[in-house]
Amino acid sequence: MLEEMTTLTHLECSLCGRRHEAGRAWNLCGCGGPLLARYDLESARASWSREWLAGAPASMWRYAPVLPVSQPASIVSLGEGWTPMIRARRYGESIGAENVFIKDEGLNPTASFKARGLACAISMCRELGVGRVAIGSAGNAASAAAAYAAAAGIEAHIFMPRDVPQANYIECMSYGARVTLVDGLISDCGRIVAEGAARGEWFEINTLKEPYRIEGKKTMGYEVAEQMQWRLPDAIFYPTGGGVGLIGMWKAFDEMEALGWIGPQRPKMIVVQAAGCAPVVKAFEEGKERAEFWQNARTISSGLRVPKPLGDFLILKIVRASGGTCAAVEDREALEAGARVCRLEGIFPCPEGAACFAALERLFETGFLRREEKIVIFNTGSGLKYPEAWSLLFPRESGSEADRLGGLITPR
Ligand SMILES: *Cc1c(COP(=O)(O)O)cnc(C)c1O
Repeated sequence: MLEEMTTLTHLECSLCGRRHEAGRAWNLCGCGGPLLARYDLESARASWSREWLAGAPASMWRYAPVLPVSQPASIVSLGEGWTPMIRARRYGESIGAENVFIKDEGLNPTASFKARGLACAISMCRELGVGRVAIGSAGNAASAAAAYAAAAGIEAHIFMPRDVPQANYIECMSYGARVTLVDGLISDCGRIVAEGAARGEWFEINTLKEPYRIEGKKTMGYEVAEQMQWRLPDAIFYPTGGGVGLIGMWKAFDEMEALGWIGPQRPKMIVVQAAGCAPVVKAFEEGKERAEFWQNARTISSGLRVPKPLGDFLILKIVRASGGTCAAVEDREALEAGARVCRLEGIFPCPEGAACFAALERLFETGFLRREEKIVIFNTGSGLKYPEAWSLLFPRESGSEADRLGGLITPR
């Protein structure tokens, strides 16, 4: 089956519905709408089955027929996806819940789920002959872009806010990317990348600005279904910045229904944002279809520092259609909930994932969710990438340089 690879037919605008041909490098539709990949699911249904997956690769490429890459040689893989779904028994017990599962995306290459989207986008760059890419990112997308570009031999230009976590900066430099620190927010970085793209300097791979990152991230939806024996959970908690994973998973559910793999039932999709940058939560509560730009975005969760997601209208539509809700969580509340999960489960979450546990506890208390419901929490990255954030909870008292370096390096 892997020889048959993709069943991609074309790309479709998520705003105006216009059709764009496959086999060319696209950014947005002429109308400004993000493009979505479409497949011949009828033919996939005829030649591919859930049973076939038993012998499929232990990575997101097990779903190759519904991924856009047409030649196996185009795939740039570092082993992304097929991350564990861990039953959180001890944590669940501590809050009176039996069915809490953690999808631990911290085990991906570059230690976050951004690996999925960028593995797919960079593989398509290789396939379509794109030799130079640029991305604006406040964190993990930059790390993943730099790593996959390095593996593909593609030149990566990265624009990051100056206050980006140290780990992301060091990773990008280590992978040999051309890094520019910007005095501003991710939105400013995005603008610089778009301007360069308009001048033909590079191909833009910012969130939703090309159609394939979402395809990589949608594999999380396939994995949730497969790892739960094709019965979707009652609720999925997703720490939402640009919302790519949420939009992607929803797309995956529709595809799997067309493939005959699942029925029409859908989980309640729960958007979790940081109280210091919660544009989607605000729009949801005000009954709006689009979010407004969030002024003075401030949170330690760099993945959630997105003041105005491009796909806001898609995110809001999905949350409402699913019967889900949105929650904003203070940074400290997130870290404290995350630390409880650490102590009870041995999983060290990123602050974005940690915020989901705080939101879960709140939604049990308000009665929005019942404690017997089956819940999947996305821990989207490893806590190891966020020493600055976790230091707020675990500051060190003594402060010699050697001590900070853990005694590993002798200061000169
Ligand atoms: C990027 C990121 C998010 C947000 O993901 P989106 O799909 O853009 O909403 C959440 N958590 C982490 C760790 C991230 O790096």
